[in-house]
Amino acid sequence: MIDRTKSHYEVIVIGAGVAGIYQIKLLSDLGVSATVLDAAGDLGGTWYWNRYPGARFDSESYTYGYSFSKELLNEWHWKERFSSQPENLRYLNFVADKFDLRKYMQFNCKVESAYFDEGNDLWRLRVNDGRELTCGFVIMAVGLLSIPTPPRFKGMENFKGRSFHTFYWPHKPVEMAGKKVAVIGTGATGIQVIAEIADKVGELIVFQRRPNWSAPLNNSPISEGEMADIRSRYEEIFKTCARTPGGFEHEPDRRGFYELSREERVVLWDKLYSSPGFAIWLRNFREIFTDEKANAEFSEYIADRIRQRVKNPAVAEKLIPRDHGFGVQRVPMETRYFEAYNRDNVHLLDISETPIAEVTETGLRTTEREYEFDIIVYATGFDAITGAFDHIDIQGVGGVRLRDEWSDGPSTFLGMMVHGFPNFLMPSGPQSGSASTNYPRGIETGVNWCTNLLSYMWTHGYNRADATFEAQERWAAHVKDMYSAMLMRKAKSWFTGYNSNVPGHEHGKIRYLVYTGGAPKYVGQIREVADHGYEGIVFDSGSTPIRRGGHEVESNQPKVSQ
Ligand SMILES: Cc1cc2nc3c(=O)[nH]c(=O)nc-3n(C[C@H](O)[C@H](O)[C@H](O)COP(=O)(O)OP(=O)(O)OC[C@H]3O[C@@H](n4cnc5c(N)ncnc54)[C@H](O)[C@@H]3O)c2cc1C
Repeated sequence: MIDRTKSHYEVIVIGAGVAGIYQIKLLSDLGVSATVLDAAGDLGGTWYWNRYPGARFDSESYTYGYSFSKELLNEWHWKERFSSQPENLRYLNFVADKFDLRKYMQFNCKVESAYFDEGNDLWRLRVNDGRELTCGFVIMAVGLLSIPTPPRFKGMENFKGRSFHTFYWPHKPVEMAGKKVAVIGTGATGIQVIAEIADKVGELIVFQRRPNWSAPLNNSPISEGEMADIRSRYEEIFKTCARTPGGFEHEPDRRGFYELSREERVVLWDKLYSSPGFAIWLRNFREIFTDEKANAEFSEYIADRIRQRVKNPAVAEKLIPRDHGFGVQRVPMETRYFEAYNRDNVHLLDISETPIAEVTETGLRTTEREYEFDIIVYATGFDAITGAFDHIDIQGVGGVRLRDEWSDGPSTFLGMMVHGFPNFLMPSGPQSGSASTNYPRGIETGVNWCTNLLSYMWTHGYNRADATFEAQERWAAHVKDMYSAMLMRKAKSWFTGYNSNVPGHEHGKIRYLVYTGGAPKYVGQIREVADHGYEGIVFDSGSTPIRRGGHEVESNQPKVSQ
């Protein structure tokens, strides 16, 4: 059990998801005094919170799992190619138990503020249980999709039935049989939950403002034999992930879109449509992401697929996006989603035509009429990428607030540091390589890099590390430049910081949130910075002695590969 009376640690990690678990594993290997704080009741992050029916990976399970331990890889059997939330949570618990990491973790601990005490090179963290904890370094493993954004309808508090955002889906099973259910939102979560509950509820009305492109996940079980084969290929699998832009096994088709005839392109697309996972997105022609005409032709191909699957032509047309092309935002993958609309008990309501006016005691009222429900499900997404940072009152040098610095969008050095916020590390922060890739592959890269930076500082007797303003400006400009080549810059998506439920995140005001240059380029750049003595970072030994708590960190600690 963790000692809750201890108030100083060398490192405090905020967040016990995929990133926080791996981060504490490396810190414990180094013998550093460290703890993990999480607002949740237990570990798992995304997979602790999102318990809605249908929640599952769109990354191949075996490319999502950690790669750092051969033993771990040999011991875990993924049961499905794209495994579901309960199994993903079991996996993260298995990892934490295997490496005895739970003893470093404190749950139901929401960090409300973090303030840099300049005189002492210390971070002072205020936790919701009233404690103040101090540390030399804060590691922000707070997640990119960890702040849910419910809609802001009038009267939401008046509804007498059950209602919840999918992030807060109850831990106990929700009785759905025979119930009248509303699902609001048709993004990645809505698409998963709608397909899963359509045949289990009495009546389902889907409130859609804007449709999303989506294509079949093509999930399947993984047998003992297949798992043995995956285990024997792990080295090769992770090598492939490291080589591809998205950190997946999927590699783009290198043939030029215009070098082939339309018929040849369709041959590829037919194959991809029945292939598992993001193949349809990431094994496609590269022009899909950059060339309007190529994107439009492919989008029309997918639109035809939707028309073939949805029996009512008017409903099919409503499910086809008009305001963006396929793949310019992260593509939600589906299983029988479109077929759900062929059921008599499922109805699609276009709230761009008849908006929701208010939530009533018994249901919802649109500008057209009133509907009664037993359950309202808000599948309205997240304050993505910067949300968890904005929700903590973070003050750096001179009392400058991070949320003010980032009010028009984040500016970072390598997505992992912010000028004026010393000893504040974000292994998978905004503008890092994580968000646009298979996330854990990016997380391992970021956590390794941050841990190596800490080891470097401890070896050299440095107390303080801060990114220079110039280095940060260069990085932020580089991230912004890369958006200019991508069609995604025009999309109303979380990659551009759009969220109508978050003030200031309106369309047309792009927030440059993700690194779009691909994983190999990102890894190359951060490695180069490290290889050049952490160029762009100013170190200071300060006057205060180096606090290391726990065991001494040896100066010849091996570097963790990036
Ligand atoms: C439904 C869903 C499906 C997804 N599927 C995939 C997928 O297939 N492939 C993929 O690559 N990615 C996927 N993602 C993205 C997913 O978030 C990442 O894969 C990964 O789980 C992120 O891990 P993390 O540790 O960085 O953050 P998280 O798992 O989000 O964990 C962050 C933790 O920080 C805690 N926290 C935040 N703020 C505070 C605070 N102030 N005080 C204390 N604790 C705090 C939160 O409670 C949370 O537990 C999915 C996301 C969702 C929501």
